[in-house]
Amino acid sequence: MKAFLAACAACIATCVAGAPDTPITALPYTPGLDPEAMDRSADPCVDFYQYTCGGWMKANPIPADRASWNVFSKLAHDNQRYLWGILAGLAEQASGRTPVQRKIGDYFAACMDEGAVEALGMAPLEPHLERIAAMNSRRELPALLAGLHLATGDSGLLFGFGSNQDFADSTKVIAFAAAGGIGLPDRDYYLKDDERSKDMRAAYQAHIARMFGLIGEALDAARAHAATVMAIETALARASLSQLDRRDPYKLFHKMDAKALRALTPRFDWTAYLGALGLTRARTFNVTEPGFFGEMDRQLAARGMDELKTYLRWHVTRAAAPALSAAFVNENFDFFSRKLHGVPEMKPRWNRCVAWVDGQLGEALGQEFVRRAFGPELKARALHMTRQIEAAMARDIAALEWMSPATKKRALDKLATLVNKIGYPERWRDYSSVVVKRGDFFGNVERAQRFESRRDLAKIGRPLDRGEWGMTPPTVNAYYNAQMNDINFPAGVLQPPLYDPQMDDAPNYGDTGGTIGHELTHGFDDEGRKFDARGNLKDWWTAQDAAAFEERAQCISGQFGQYVVVDDTRINSQLTLGEDVADLGGIILAWMAWKAETAGQALAARDGLSAEQRFFVGYAQWACENDRPENQRVKAITDPHSPSRYRVNGVVLNLPEFERAFSCKPGQLMAPARRCRVW
Ligand SMILES: [Zn+2]
Repeated sequence: MKAFLAACAACIATCVAGAPDTPITALPYTPGLDPEAMDRSADPCVDFYQYTCGGWMKANPIPADRASWNVFSKLAHDNQRYLWGILAGLAEQASGRTPVQRKIGDYFAACMDEGAVEALGMAPLEPHLERIAAMNSRRELPALLAGLHLATGDSGLLFGFGSNQDFADSTKVIAFAAAGGIGLPDRDYYLKDDERSKDMRAAYQAHIARMFGLIGEALDAARAHAATVMAIETALARASLSQLDRRDPYKLFHKMDAKALRALTPRFDWTAYLGALGLTRARTFNVTEPGFFGEMDRQLAARGMDELKTYLRWHVTRAAAPALSAAFVNENFDFFSRKLHGVPEMKPRWNRCVAWVDGQLGEALGQEFVRRAFGPELKARALHMTRQIEAAMARDIAALEWMSPATKKRALDKLATLVNKIGYPERWRDYSSVVVKRGDFFGNVERAQRFESRRDLAKIGRPLDRGEWGMTPPTVNAYYNAQMNDINFPAGVLQPPLYDPQMDDAPNYGDTGGTIGHELTHGFDDEGRKFDARGNLKDWWTAQDAAAFEERAQCISGQFGQYVVVDDTRINSQLTLGEDVADLGGIILAWMAWKAETAGQALAARDGLSAEQRFFVGYAQWACENDRPENQRVKAITDPHSPSRYRVNGVVLNLPEFERAFSCKPGQLMAPARRCRVW
């Protein structure tokens, strides 16, 4: 009877959660325009998002291990299952593996070996804790911190340190010291006084105490230590810039030499810190937030040795937790995912292990992905579409009524200089020096992180590598880098349903064309426009043109500032301005490019939709999403993107082409009298 009951319970759990995932050997196909995802009972002129995504939202409830679920994350999940198949195969393959395949196969096997991870418990963390405990004076702190930074790459340990292009001269790579030092996602969590923020702080502090308990501290001590951590983090948060201020590159640009750096933080010995990093070449430093480092210096003076040790112990434990035994993984999940983002369940281990490989050996795994899932024909087609969007932007700039010929010339120069990176890097990162051992997951994680930390620091003072990518090939996302002046489209984002080679141009230009246009216009949004064609922070606008841009951007900001994210919190539309401007510019350019591409063609209706309607439905269907309120609350503070509903509705209503395509009546929600437009 007992066995029967157990089997039954298992069945119920499986039935409710859906069948557990399995590895796949081919990526599943979802069409680039999916009529099933629509809700045709909704009026497209009233709520276009519901009309295009209503069916999707109904059919795709949020899995228990996710904070949100959308077309992007679903495709990313398919990619991960596909990579799982590759990695599981490589982990088991006894012979014939290339060095790259052996590395990622063994890394995955070590990560999946839960028995070995459990057997170690907190042992891998102990060397760090011992070093912290052995610190005798403040003078030893910089070298200790450097070691922890190399091993964890974590900016929660007081601050972040690495390399970046000089804002003033993008050909040079210099050292950057950035604000960090806190465990919650943003300074606002420490400073806001509403009930929800207070509740979150109390939960965070209780979590810190439980983590101290896990590393062996008695209850009272753990509680007192958590209060110490909270006090230090609150002081650091108070001295940090807001998300909004961080959008202004001028506020993050404070170049100084070593002498000025020493003067900024007299209690922190930078010479010792840099020496321990093995960094003797660094002469120039950009301190992104001098106010933060001033406060850090005050904290170093005001806090006793025990308090500083407590603070370091917390952050090194927090940083290590995801790679330790289940007790640490679970406690870390319980606060940072369940409480903060509202996620009921942890992702299965295979899923976390695929993410570890992608995060640490991403360009090794990427080679396997690209070889199987991204052929030269697909790359050529994506590049053709990119060039069409760029040609549209050139025509668009030339025709702008509000921009003077002088600024237009520079804008066109910036557009012509922009580099298109499609699919994957030309040269793969060489991980041959990373030692990967079976049965030693934590060791692999630290060795891979040390490799990455040193790789990043080694760029300081060396010529810039323009071929570098900031995302791995399987990633379902894209970005624009203002200092490189390049757009980057990983192979992972150029897959159905986002880019569908089996579909005609209408949905593809709407969807991927819109995304390409979006990334392109980031070069010209409120932030990107401050960098010139060579990626230097330099004002190339006439005062009049800058004012005309601001006025148009503020129209968009005013519009999006009306929309509610969650509860009674509206969009922080100054924070989302760059993304909102990019969304609107993206679809306008995609429309122009699509019209150019299909000029002279008779465009057929399909599924009861005209070609123009299919362009817009294709555009909107990238954004279909379900989101948990807890996650929406985090995003309201930290996310520079507007919620998906408004990234569709708030954008299309600004296009007269949309009004015409759906024969909306003037005055309907999606056909307002007043429209915004920048590009
Ligand atoms: Zn963007």
